Amino acid sequence: MEKENIPLVGRFAPTPSGRMHLGNVFAALLAWLSVRSRDGEMVLRMEDLDTQRTSAEFARVLREDLTWLGLTWDRETPAQSTRNQVYDDFFHRLAERELLYPCYCTRSQLHSVNAPHLSDGTYIYPGTCRDLTQAQRESFSRKPAWRLRVPDREYTLEDRCCGSFRQNLAQECGDFLVRRADGVYMYQLAVVVDDGLAGVTEVVRGRDLLESAPRQMYLQELLGFSKPQYAHVPMLLSADGRRLSKRDKDLDLGQLRSRVTPEQLIGWLAHAAGLIDTPEPVSARELAQNFSWERVKKEDVFVDIDHFCP
Ligand code: GLU
Repeated sequence: MEKENIPLVGRFAPTPSGRMHLGNVFAALLAWLSVRSRDGEMVLRMEDLDTQRTSAEFARVLREDLTWLGLTWDRETPAQSTRNQVYDDFFHRLAERELLYPCYCTRSQLHSVNAPHLSDGTYIYPGTCRDLTQAQRESFSRKPAWRLRVPDREYTLEDRCCGSFRQNLAQECGDFLVRRADGVYMYQLAVVVDDGLAGVTEVVRGRDLLESAPRQMYLQELLGFSKPQYAHVPMLLSADGRRLSKRDKDLDLGQLRSRVTPEQLIGWLAHAAGLIDTPEPVSARELAQNFSWERVKKEDVFVDIDHFCP
């Protein structure tokens, strides 16, 4: 009962490293529909921690693309690249509880560890630097990265699209990085702090991030944030089964906007998602009237590139 009084807050959290591709638009559309169909609030946040790959110009174009699609937002919270002091504060809270330790492993050391890895490319960290003595730590001349100790405990997520997902953090992930040696904070910490401080109650994003969710749930618990509801939506695949990415220039909005209207694009994606029976043009606003998660397909979607590039 009490839960129903908490305002619904969703978010777009794009990385401004290029034009949105069809898969990004698909996830953004579902995030928007989920919020707007229940009169929730939508927050926009630029995830630009990697300042080498991201730019203010891409961020500007991203806002413009969302507006063209009719995917509106109510407020924009500060870009992650401006938030180091905020992250420092949460980092110190973890450090005070002795949950963090410095890690001196080099990239090649980490890659030589023959451990299976998560789908996001993260290796299961074997704990090499977990129990170093102070003298051992002082013997390194380089600056360390910082890792968070994880418990040997299973986290279970009830995902709106993927159903029940379980992960034992110690066995399937290992102690993970929260800050790089150059002082840049990692996505896992930043996303939890930013979603938590913005009061986000639901996270809708691509299924490629499903395996990150247990790490984020653990951080939410440690930092005292409530857990949002998750929906990890299907991925869009090319005919050969590859995930679409920003490298698929034919299917980014720079190209698509010259060939289709926003309604055509949204109609096609809504059909692919299982929300309408035929891919006829429709606006996001019209779709919001009948949106329900029960209708959203659970399988990944193959994209017929010829449909968009006649
Ligand atoms: N910034 C990430 C991306 O653009 C999304 C992260 C998230 O939604 O948690 O893929």
